[in-house]
Amino acid sequence: MTLSNWAGNVAFTPTDVLHARDIAEAQRLVADAPRIRALGTGHSFNDIADAPQLISLRDIASPFELDEAARTVTVRGAAPYGAVAAFLHEHGWALHNLGSLPHISVAGATATGTHGSGDGNGVLSTAVRGIERIGADGELTWVGAGDPDFDGSVVALGALGVITRIRLAIEPTYDVTQQVYTGLSWDTFLDQFDAIMASAYSVSVLGKWATPTLSTLWLKHRARADGAGSADAGSRLFGGDRVTADVHAIITGDAPDDNMTPLGTRGAWSTRLAHFRFDRDPSAGGDEIQSEFFVPRAAAVDALRAIRPLGERIDPLLHVSEFRTFAGDDLWLSGGEGGGRLAIHFTWRQRPDEVAAILPEIEAALRPFTPRAHWGKVYSAGFDQAAGFDRLGEFIALAARVDPTGKFRNDHLDRVLRLSDSEAP
Ligand SMILES: Cc1cc2nc3c(=O)[nH]c(=O)nc-3n(C[C@H](O)[C@H](O)[C@H](O)COP(=O)(O)OP(=O)(O)OC[C@H]3O[C@@H](n4cnc5c(N)ncnc54)[C@H](O)[C@@H]3O)c2cc1C
Repeated sequence: MTLSNWAGNVAFTPTDVLHARDIAEAQRLVADAPRIRALGTGHSFNDIADAPQLISLRDIASPFELDEAARTVTVRGAAPYGAVAAFLHEHGWALHNLGSLPHISVAGATATGTHGSGDGNGVLSTAVRGIERIGADGELTWVGAGDPDFDGSVVALGALGVITRIRLAIEPTYDVTQQVYTGLSWDTFLDQFDAIMASAYSVSVLGKWATPTLSTLWLKHRARADGAGSADAGSRLFGGDRVTADVHAIITGDAPDDNMTPLGTRGAWSTRLAHFRFDRDPSAGGDEIQSEFFVPRAAAVDALRAIRPLGERIDPLLHVSEFRTFAGDDLWLSGGEGGGRLAIHFTWRQRPDEVAAILPEIEAALRPFTPRAHWGKVYSAGFDQAAGFDRLGEFIALAARVDPTGKFRNDHLDRVLRLSDSEAP
């Protein structure tokens, strides 16, 4: 059957996609399948979701369970963040952060360690407090915070089972105001990197590599719902000018005009922490491929300097690059495991051969900084994830224990985790 990811750059190869109508049916389907994986919303850019059989839980309805005393919400894994965010805000609650698009499923984003931005904000998976999944035997297991396997079970690449429900930490709702500045030079960005990345609750810097000036400094300021704490960084900042007109924040990108969350006006976190509106097609509308590498925060400026000499060759292939930071955590396969990192992101044009040719050079430039690649984006077959993720060996052992027959493995995991080199089930 023909099925591709959202961007259309990966053709999935399952014999069928099973749509379970309830959890009991999903359990039976998983128990009976020799090899199966869960499909989220298909927004990853590589074949991490592919398998001989795919199962989708998106047709299973279940109410969000709000526990205000415990400050958690428990949602179905297939729920898109946009739906969770709207529900939480309506009830006076919030998540700590969102990724750039709210269309992705909570389980899919959790599985790949999806992140937003902000020096103090961990990746989205750091909000997870518990996971319910269907194991290889079809039985439901709950892994909660504090369980010895928990830190290895959150960013788990779909390798430990099919997630049915996820419990997330919540906090009282808050407002966000977005401000965009143009005219930030590369020199200022590199000289004042720490101050720039600390200048708002969530900071994104966007642009190309060979130009003297970046296109966009994008600040998301946080305020409490009662009005306290709102910030206005002024009309000039770090040598750039605030844009007051209703512009597209990804100025050098080729995205549709009307798919960004509102700039300039204050409003609910649920409508402003993501870059893209939930009711529009995000980013460049799918005419793109994405790659992203995480380097330790202390090496951030050196890593950017190491890539810049490739700028003349990178830029013609790019819609735009984006630089964000996130805080450290303890989740074994999270980009933030062991300390905060800079995320160096590339939204490429759909020119896969040329992208594949330049990626090894970018990866080689980053090698001294022990880079990690985003699990859901494009990186070279030769890129060594094991060198960046110290706890990958523990994860492989956990996966072998939880899934001894390799039911949830696929070619992608065998290749990237080098499983076939060690043991095959
Ligand atoms: C326009 C765009 C913008 C993006 N912006 C960001 C960003 O800001 N930050 C960032 O970090 N990433 C970003 N991404 C990447 C995206 O967040 C990840 O690829 C994410 O994993 C996609 O979620 P999904 O639901 O589409 O999962 P899929 O791509 O469908 O699957 C990803 C993985 O999750 C597993 N999975 C899915 N559902 C389940 C389940 N129920 N149980 C177990 N495993 C499951 C799959 O098996 C697979 O291994 C962006 C992607 C796009 C297309």
